[in-house]
Amino acid sequence: MRISNLNGRAHLTDKRAVDIAESSGGRFGPDPMDLFAQWPAFHEWARTAPVEAGVPYRPEDLGAPVPRPGQVFAIGLNYAEHAAETGMNAAPGVPSTFTKFVSCLTGPTGSIALTGPSVDWEVELVVAIGVEARNVAAADAWKYVAGVTIGQDFSDRDVQMTGSPPQFSLGKSFAGYGPTGPALVTFDEIAIDTPLRLRCWVNDELVQDGSTAQMILPVAVLIEQLSAICALYPGDLIFTGTPSGVGMGRTPARYLVSGDTVRTRIDGLGEMTHTFTQARAVGSGRGADVNGCCRP
Ligand code: ZN
Repeated sequence: MRISNLNGRAHLTDKRAVDIAESSGGRFGPDPMDLFAQWPAFHEWARTAPVEAGVPYRPEDLGAPVPRPGQVFAIGLNYAEHAAETGMNAAPGVPSTFTKFVSCLTGPTGSIALTGPSVDWEVELVVAIGVEARNVAAADAWKYVAGVTIGQDFSDRDVQMTGSPPQFSLGKSFAGYGPTGPALVTFDEIAIDTPLRLRCWVNDELVQDGSTAQMILPVAVLIEQLSAICALYPGDLIFTGTPSGVGMGRTPARYLVSGDTVRTRIDGLGEMTHTFTQARAVGSGRGADVNGCCRP
């Protein structure tokens, strides 16, 4: 099934959308986060829910399918060619982990304000936790996953690399820099751990084209390693890293400019489209204008 956030309410979506709270008689929803309070029961109910009874909807009314996760984990340098193009490497077997602060999350369409001259793109598979996970073995890890969606780990490289050692989280957490969507896709739609093709275009030029099969640490291993340290709660997200083709890896480096449109696709999960606008000068000049963007 595909679970979407339509105008702030949880829906099952196909070509049409079914309001989950209405359809379940108030048992689940309406807030998309409510589903995670009782994910196994919701998932069981949704398997037989009447999707064909839905109504048409507009893609631009979709928000982030998991709008307010308790924790957002993000993994850097998890594809070998991408690590090579950045000139950095994670320690072998250790996920390079940072967060995208929750306030950066947004939906699968809309405009995003540039924050400077070095804003970069990173298509990523995003995993949503469905059942609390602590000290989970990799072999069991997928049992704790609710579903997967598409993410963009937009990154202001100047801010990301500021400091010694550099700190990744803030430069990747400007308003709108964490789009997800269009839907959370569960494993009755796609097979668990099936290789998925990830692509990203800037103004119709293909800039990234990889497969989740290329991850250095696969999803199950990431869950094992993260859950050995942190409890993973239902609704938590894991951005799992990006394949090669980012702007900072080019010679010369190429970054987003006002008017650029970024299209982000994972086969089987759908597509997102975002257009970048000039930053509005606020304070230091790094203010992000999220008006018209970013339905949480
Ligand atoms: Zn990333």
